[in-house]
Amino acid sequence: MRFDRLRLNGFKSFVDPTDLVIHEGLTGVVGPNGCGKSNLLEALRWVMGENRPSAMRGDGMEDVIFAGTTRRSARAHAEVTLTLDNKDRLAPAGMNDSDALDVTRRITRDAGSAYRINGKEVRARDVQMLFADASTGAHSPALVRQGQISELINAKPKARRRILEEAAGISGLYQRRHEAELK
Ligand code: ATP
Ligand code: MG
Repeated sequence: MRFDRLRLNGFKSFVDPTDLVIHEGLTGVVGPNGCGKSNLLEALRWVMGENRPSAMRGDGMEDVIFAGTTRRSARAHAEVTLTLDNKDRLAPAGMNDSDALDVTRRITRDAGSAYRINGKEVRARDVQMLFADASTGAHSPALVRQGQISELINAKPKARRRILEEAAGISGLYQRRHEAELK
């Protein structure tokens, strides 16, 4: 599954609408300390359904909303849209009628997150499963946070196993089994 585009609006330091085209091949993000490189990676994780504020370096999920500066007031929402190439029609049934998938997550203060795929409201789970199956999910080892290598080395065996399961592409199956057992 290819990522074509990442759009941010009000997410962390990206207060103004920002549109990034992701070209094929290797992409590097460079810039001085504090310019927002890690925030970009966090936006990617967040739109894929990350639900741990700690993974966003915050205390609560609303900390991803632009908090304001001396010159600009805080925002009430943050929104991130990730555009996926769907020419191969790899998306789950019912989402396969177009060449591109726009996955959007929006958070509003005191109202939590809402998700859309191509403009249609979906559940957080639908988005998480879309990416879990593509082995690129919010917890995917394809995304390595700053400081994560040392965390990995010090991880307990159970945590390390979870990482391996995601890499093997079976974490989506576990989630479905868990839900089937609850029914
Ligand atoms: P480094 O090179 O040090 O790793 P970086 O480019 O990864 O830096 P980030 O950590 O992505 O930088 O960005 C940090 C900046 O984002 C800080 O200036 C911080 O104030 C700002 N920031 C984080 N959350 C918010 C928020 N909710 N509202 C406004 N600004 C925010
Ligand atoms: Mg950083």
